Amino acid sequence: MKKIWSVILTAAMAAAVLSACGSTGNSSAQNTNPGNTETASSAAETVQQSSASDSSVSSASEAAGNSDDGKLSVVCTNFPEYDFARQITGDDAEVTMLLKPGAESHTYEPTPEDIIRIQDSDLFIYVGGDSDEWVADVLSSMDQSELKVFRLMDQVNTVEEETVEGMEPEEEEEAEGEEGAEGEEEAEMDEHVWTSPVNAITIVRKMAGALEALDPENKETYSSNAEAYIDELEKLDDQFKDVVDNAKRKEIIVADRFPFRYFCDEYGLTYYAAFPGCSTDTQPSAKTVAFLTDKVKEDHIPVVFHIELSNEEMADSIAESTGAKSELLNAVHNVSDEDFKAGATYVSLMQHNVEALREALN
Ligand SMILES: [Zn+2]
Repeated sequence: MKKIWSVILTAAMAAAVLSACGSTGNSSAQNTNPGNTETASSAAETVQQSSASDSSVSSASEAAGNSDDGKLSVVCTNFPEYDFARQITGDDAEVTMLLKPGAESHTYEPTPEDIIRIQDSDLFIYVGGDSDEWVADVLSSMDQSELKVFRLMDQVNTVEEETVEGMEPEEEEEAEGEEGAEGEEEAEMDEHVWTSPVNAITIVRKMAGALEALDPENKETYSSNAEAYIDELEKLDDQFKDVVDNAKRKEIIVADRFPFRYFCDEYGLTYYAAFPGCSTDTQPSAKTVAFLTDKVKEDHIPVVFHIELSNEEMADSIAESTGAKSELLNAVHNVSDEDFKAGATYVSLMQHNVEALREALN
């Protein structure tokens, strides 16, 4: 693993040096261009373009050139970070997302161009969990003197991934099978901190602080954007509270991976699911399917959830055999290309969850 990284990094660094030679002053920031009215959506286009032209990836110098206009350059690994950052910065920073719209976030691997983008950014935002484990290696091989990082999992209290009754245990844990005397395996911390809107509020507040410190000229704008956005997140939180407070039941069934630990903890929901948080396993055993099917029947659950960008097969088949409905509960790891182009946001996707949850709990 390390070897592969050192090869990729060496290639990336060589390209970075070449690109720096080609355009001096690349990173000498703050030559603000008042005529530039680039918006968050055109920052979004940057992502789209690179997703569209994957095979003819933009040259290293282009990839590294995001901060040429003097704007603060913010590079994010996944969609929630990207959306939070663009809500805070509006037109005043160049925010890019490494994950392509529609891509599976847990199997993402950075390209050499991505590594250059990280190196050349003013702020690099990542989760710090299972899906971006590669970050530690990449950062340790970089000159971090100019680079600021913001790790989502450092911003809020984290909990371990939980294996509840009926869930498929993770394969590697099974293989290692080393249950300690206390019956505890070395559990992974659950990375899906953003699925709780309350956590999102904390993250946005701290992210705004980091951005304001890096870009004092736009401090006022970032601060007022963040406050307006936090108002929206608070409304979302109120809506979820309202749905749960007035619900007939407090239990959900997710026939898929389960990235909603923080969400369920926040609103006092119990849950049954097929796989723990970031499991790479997606083929359920007959036992797991039978367990969830029985639960749906026993507890008269009207909606069986699947998550976004999933094959939905298990939810569909359990729904079919129980008469329940199969519905999306969006964990917002990423958005489809279509949703991305249509301007989907964390709030709009969560808004869907408010209605889906209302249906599932009543
Ligand atoms: Zn996940």
